[in-house]
Amino acid sequence: MIQKQKYQGLIAACGMNCGLCIGYLRERNPCGGCFKKDDLNKPKSCRSCAIVNCEFLKRTASGFCYDCEKDPCSRLKQLDKRYQTNYGMSMIDNLNFIKAHGMSGFLKNEEARWTCKVCGSGVSVHRDFCLNCKAELRGHSS
Ligand SMILES: [Zn+2]
Repeated sequence: MIQKQKYQGLIAACGMNCGLCIGYLRERNPCGGCFKKDDLNKPKSCRSCAIVNCEFLKRTASGFCYDCEKDPCSRLKQLDKRYQTNYGMSMIDNLNFIKAHGMSGFLKNEEARWTCKVCGSGVSVHRDFCLNCKAELRGHSS
């Protein structure tokens, strides 16, 4: 039997790991992630996301932007730039890794990368401290 990996089913078309989002990790009204279609807890910006609703994306075999004829499009590059600048994470790097090495390897890396070294809980890309033990996180966010 194949064990379910952490973050499985939480990687959005753009390469975002929804499991790292503060919207997903918050205790009150957590968002179910990009794939949970009619989730009212989903942030407005995610519900109206130009990437997940993109016509070109619908034509891809994998459902990920790396398979798209327009990849990397200006929308993806804009999002990627915002995340690189604000959170030290790149969606495009994520997509390239998944394309080259597969989803399973990506998920394994993500689990190692986004785990609090102090308490072992999953951390958020949007915070520079652990949500559980409040330990300061190094390496992402400036
Ligand atoms: Zn912690």
